[in-house]
Amino acid sequence: MRILHISDIHGASAAFRKVLKKEKFDVLAVTGDFEGLADVKPLESVSKPVMTVHGNFYESIEVLEALQPWDINGRWIDIGGWRFVGVGYGEPVMFEPAKQLIFVTHEPPFGAGDLSWIGPVGNQNFRKIIQKHRPQFWLCGHIHEGRGIFNVGKTVVVNAGSIAEKSYAVIDTEANKAIMKRLL
Ligand SMILES: [Zn+2]
Repeated sequence: MRILHISDIHGASAAFRKVLKKEKFDVLAVTGDFEGLADVKPLESVSKPVMTVHGNFYESIEVLEALQPWDINGRWIDIGGWRFVGVGYGEPVMFEPAKQLIFVTHEPPFGAGDLSWIGPVGNQNFRKIIQKHRPQFWLCGHIHEGRGIFNVGKTVVVNAGSIAEKSYAVIDTEANKAIMKRLL
């Protein structure tokens, strides 16, 4: 399965559309920071499964309502033998473990993809969940400058960075690998 992972739209809906057109994927995961309805709109034309979680930046009630068809905050969905667990910004983690697990969160776990200018600012609870449940992948954003691919034990943590800075990621679950990409 090929997952297209986009994060932190911040008004860059044109770049968002470009990536959707350019990349081939089976599933789209968007990990938050939709700044307005224009940032949500590109999701409507995606014919593949889409999942989103909310971020923390200017997300109005209207935006949260518009995200409803795809929002997986506080729940999980199973696709192609993989369980995707959604956690929006500042929300509790709720799931039942599975053999093949992928977390879709706004915040990065502590110590991976979380390095901001004041130091590591990731979520401590997420780190504990990684140590306990050893998911194969953890997809996140939030700390734009922390983007990249990180290993915590056997878990591959992907901070896609901000699409407003032309950064995104593609995950190949069969090959157990992720790559960072840049929109030209
Ligand atoms: Zn952001």
